[in-house]
Amino acid sequence: MIVPANPGAGYRAMKAEIDAAVARTLESGWYILGQEVKAFEAEFAAWLGAGKTVGCGNGTDAIVLALRGLGIGRGCSVATASHTAVATVAAVEMVGATPVLIDIDSDHFTMDPADLAATLADPPAGLPPIAAVLPVHLYGQAADLDAIGAICRTNGLVLIEDCAQAHGATWLGQKVGTFGDAATFSFYPTKNLGALGDGGAVVLPNDEVAGRVAALRQYGWRTHYISDDIGINSRLDELQAAILRVKLAHLDTANARRRAIAAIYDEALRHTSIRPPARRPNAGHVFHLYVVRVPNRDAVQAKLRAAGIGSGVHYPQPVHVQPAYRNRVALGAAACRATEAAASEVLSLPLYPELSDDEVAQVAAELKRL
Ligand SMILES: *Cc1c(COP(=O)(O)O)cnc(C)c1O
Repeated sequence: MIVPANPGAGYRAMKAEIDAAVARTLESGWYILGQEVKAFEAEFAAWLGAGKTVGCGNGTDAIVLALRGLGIGRGCSVATASHTAVATVAAVEMVGATPVLIDIDSDHFTMDPADLAATLADPPAGLPPIAAVLPVHLYGQAADLDAIGAICRTNGLVLIEDCAQAHGATWLGQKVGTFGDAATFSFYPTKNLGALGDGGAVVLPNDEVAGRVAALRQYGWRTHYISDDIGINSRLDELQAAILRVKLAHLDTANARRRAIAAIYDEALRHTSIRPPARRPNAGHVFHLYVVRVPNRDAVQAKLRAAGIGSGVHYPQPVHVQPAYRNRVALGAAACRATEAAASEVLSLPLYPELSDDEVAQVAAELKRL
């Protein structure tokens, strides 16, 4: 069976290097916030080309820390997406802020700037003012940062990029994560840059905010045992940082391999009525996921499964229809209609860098028969 994602294959491909990094860390005797985290933070910032990186426990906490660091909490609404990992919306509520869910552009699956503008012009009644915008660079492709950035500047809104699926994605040649007031990353094992456990990071252009976020991740300490602020505990641990340093060195190659596989799938789909994923002209896609729209999704999944090919659905239900959020969370002007239409049709094909040429050919041959 060809699985949709395979973090074990990622480990095996770099086993000698990762095992050495793990052994070095275990021998060091220092397991929390030491040299490995410090080195990873510096290397990740250098790779991004801008900002300070603060490692933390996971991608959800990264959003929490970014919001807290920028003063977004109770009394603020945050415009974000419903077509995303639930973590994006959960993090907004974790800081006491109110999410307002903006619709997506149906071709690219990211925040529709027109709906953002319409919602700001006529916000849902009874909510705190919208103070921040949290677009998601979904599936490995940047949201429309020109339009969203312009709206944020005009309205004096904080911009936080959720880059959990977009390590290395670009907008006008510049890496995402370097455009907003903060950016957040997840290193969940299946992400483009994945740890072998949990991990996350906040990227901040402003040193003062970066200092605040670094304190917030560990009880609000700036010096040991003294809390200047009410913090949380969300630290990136030394073992994961050491593993991430190995994987970061291979990330550009891994993203190039993802793009090459995507091009082969694109070509195979030309023989079918299914459209390949649409690329934004200004965006460099890194194919965290290769997502197509198929109206008869169950039948297509069953056909692929019968041929030994697994697939996934990201995500089967928009956040606003899930039990925890239904009839409770506010929607923007477009009432997330494009989001609801996408959720019933999206299908993620197998895509990870360690897929062999034979496996890719096998998937492509099967796609041609759809
Ligand atoms: C994975 C993901 C997150 C959350 O990351 P965790 O490390 O699982 O907490 C947030 N946003 C998006 C878009 C994600 O894909």
